[in-house]
Amino acid sequence: MSTKVYDAIVIGGGPGGYVAAIRLGQLKQKTLVIEKESMGGVCLNWGCIPSKALIAAANFVEKAKHADVMGITITGVSVDAGKLMGWKDGIVKKLTGGVRTLCKGNGADIMMGEAKFVSADTLEVKTAEGVERVQATKGIIVATGSRPVAIPGFEFDGKQVITAKEAVSLNPLPKRMVIIGGGIIGMELGGVYSKLGVEITVVEFMPSVLASMDADLVAPVTKSMTKAGVKFLTGTKAKSAVKQPDGSLKVTVEAPDGIKEIACDVCLVAVGMKPNSDVVGIEKSGVALDKKGHVIIDEECRTNVKGVYAIGDVSGVPYLAHKASKEGEIAAEVIAGHKAARDWRAMPAATFTHPEIANVGLSEKEARDKGLDITIGKFPFAASGRAMAVSETDGFVKVIAERVGKDKKDHKIIGVHIVGPEASDLISEAALALEMDAYVEDVGLTVHPHPTLGEAVMEAAKHAIGEAVHIMNK
Ligand code: NAD
Repeated sequence: MSTKVYDAIVIGGGPGGYVAAIRLGQLKQKTLVIEKESMGGVCLNWGCIPSKALIAAANFVEKAKHADVMGITITGVSVDAGKLMGWKDGIVKKLTGGVRTLCKGNGADIMMGEAKFVSADTLEVKTAEGVERVQATKGIIVATGSRPVAIPGFEFDGKQVITAKEAVSLNPLPKRMVIIGGGIIGMELGGVYSKLGVEITVVEFMPSVLASMDADLVAPVTKSMTKAGVKFLTGTKAKSAVKQPDGSLKVTVEAPDGIKEIACDVCLVAVGMKPNSDVVGIEKSGVALDKKGHVIIDEECRTNVKGVYAIGDVSGVPYLAHKASKEGEIAAEVIAGHKAARDWRAMPAATFTHPEIANVGLSEKEARDKGLDITIGKFPFAASGRAMAVSETDGFVKVIAERVGKDKKDHKIIGVHIVGPEASDLISEAALALEMDAYVEDVGLTVHPHPTLGEAVMEAAKHAIGEAVHIMNK
């Protein structure tokens, strides 16, 4: 078997891998990216993008149903699941095609097939045509992502007991859905399907949903979902899903007040993801893994083996597409001999619930646990003219600043947390503030256009130092 030789090879064409391949191509490295399913990975094919398309559609339905507050009566709103999924699939197709074009346009080759290490610099790839052998002289980047975790008692069948992958392609829509896991996926997709008319029950093991976030950020989301009819069973352990003679499912859970049985048509299991480090013959590369199976990397995305790099979910949390892309750029620069390093001073995250939650930096609890001398500024969207004008007044912006400098008179921004309309977009200003070591005074002094939701960020910053204009100061 002949061996094709490249400067760099990327295993996995997700938002980590394809970005690395594009950047390597731009840096004039002879590059190959290998993908076994579809370019774009989880993010483009069944994660971020499809779910956001469905969220937009569901929000549209919700707005239409409640437009009467604005004097608009819309009757007969109905959802054609086939057309909805077709529209969503069209977006996926356009984007995955775009990624292929960008890789090729920047000089990176694409090989569709399943790669396995045979040594630290050589891979065998099972393609539709046979097995190919490829070698990298400068670096192999492992960008294989993660996959949904399974739990005992819930055997995935792809139809009724499903992962998020199938949950973004439901046609027809089920009447009743049980979601195991009130984490990010459970809450995002629970929100979608409740708005599309599905009866939703969320089963969460922890005492509250979205348990890793501060409770005040989560409260507006659970309030709005409860109002929409979503049932939450917290402190509740999922035991089993069993198919019934009538074709339905019986989901059994252990709640604080005893065993409960819930009848449903579909059960989505969203209890976390695990790294795809065990699918590429990683042991042949000699790369070290942590206890959870993540490939251990340093700040240049290098593993313990010279010439092997890892990026994205497979190299550890947070499991976020933009973290993977950033690491892809870093690994590409390092392979090309440039200086680049991971520095997560500002790693924003966004949860596309209704309202949205977005954050960057330390939470109030984390700052207090660290014993930092902090001041908090908070501005509710209920006091924002723009939020009222778009009929989205739930939520607030919270700015956390540390008192620093001479006499502790300066206030460095160490965290910004937003729950409310367009939080996922508003957080970018906060990420820039943290990246640039900005003070609340910087954000407060910056003129924000009126009337915009962004003014809430400015007002929250001013509130932290008692200078907010459109709410009373402490
Ligand atoms: P998650 O870790 O966010 O939530 C899983 C939840 O399931 C937890 O709250 C956990 O307590 C609960 N759970 C675990 N076992 C259970 C059981 N037996 N019974 C009941 N509850 C149980 O995981 P996820 O929602 O599956 O998401 C996976 C990953 O994907 C996350 O790491 C997330 O960061 C990422 N993601 C990000 C976005 C985004 O950035 N908007 C969107 C989707 C997914």
